[in-house]
Amino acid sequence: MNGVQVVVASLGGTITMTGSGGTTGVRPSLTADDLIGSIPGLARTAEVTARTIATIPGASLSAADIFRAFAWARDAVDDGASGAVIVQGTDTIEESAYLLDLHWDRAAPLVVTGAMRAAQATGADGPANILAAVQVACSPESRERGVLVVLNDEIHAASRVRKMRSSGLNAFRSPSFGPLGGLVESAVVYGNSIRRPAPLPVPTGSSRPCVALIETHLDDDGALLDLATASDHRGIVIDAFGVGHVPAKVAGAISRAVAVSKPVVFASRTGSGATFSSAYDFVGSESDLLRRGAIPAGWLDARKARILLTCLLAASSTMDNIKSEFRRRGQLSSPALPDWRNTTGKHHDTESTGCWSGTQSNDTRVRSQDPS
Ligand code: ASP
Repeated sequence: MNGVQVVVASLGGTITMTGSGGTTGVRPSLTADDLIGSIPGLARTAEVTARTIATIPGASLSAADIFRAFAWARDAVDDGASGAVIVQGTDTIEESAYLLDLHWDRAAPLVVTGAMRAAQATGADGPANILAAVQVACSPESRERGVLVVLNDEIHAASRVRKMRSSGLNAFRSPSFGPLGGLVESAVVYGNSIRRPAPLPVPTGSSRPCVALIETHLDDDGALLDLATASDHRGIVIDAFGVGHVPAKVAGAISRAVAVSKPVVFASRTGSGATFSSAYDFVGSESDLLRRGAIPAGWLDARKARILLTCLLAASSTMDNIKSEFRRRGQLSSPALPDWRNTTGKHHDTESTGCWSGTQSNDTRVRSQDPS
């Protein structure tokens, strides 16, 4: 034991699942204490305290569950923990980690992990992922990097990571730019860094606006988008073709949504790359959608764009605020991205750039606390 404290909370997921009651499938059952109880090397890495917040599949998590975990993590680091780890179902990590990251306002790292194989499966990856997550959470190099997703010995930025395979240990990737770093022989290594915009205020109320997420497709007539416009959804994200294209009929439906003041954001359904602004000019092209008042998601995929739009609407943002937040967080305004980290401490520089500012780092290799 080296005096470093890390807290681990569990929300459930495959990592907690075991066979139960004569059925062939697995279900969430293990507690956070069960999870950390039998991980070789964990006790030498940090003093770990565990907390079970929920025992549910990732598919059933709600924003309320995520904010409960957020509040617990913030209290823990304010009480002296070097970092916090949240364990959950991998099905929704790409969304929950981004939701946490939009609001995480502490220098200490908040790390999210899970497992692709259930607890009793041969070669279960849960213990290795938790150990790696704790090692990342105790590394001083992880500070000021916001929320990190650690699986399969890779460290991903919450704003970029996606689950890209339904099974297999290498399901998580950051398709446009790659992971931030990884673990090698228990060492935490960062090779990339990203600019992280200033955190959004933590919402105080419990109700969250509904935002529809609709993927366009061949022969889409826009009827679903019109339904969303007529519903009480407060905003709409369209997962568009290529660099931000939709069929002409969908372009008309977008105009109808914008006309009733519903923000419409378009992202690329391709899985990587950014939306464009001016390369094409036909009905339904990205420049046409911009003229109609739609908002480009930039490098954010549609799932993350939905999370961001929900948070902005929950904060009663104006349409202008929503547009500028998407420009900043979709990284459309600044192609050359400076590193936001500052080794001397936290700089909350919303006045000048709206970003956490910092100095450029070199690649770093730092031994974790585990000497074994
Ligand atoms: N397959 C999922 C997982 O890896 C199930 C879930 O998200 O709960 O955890």
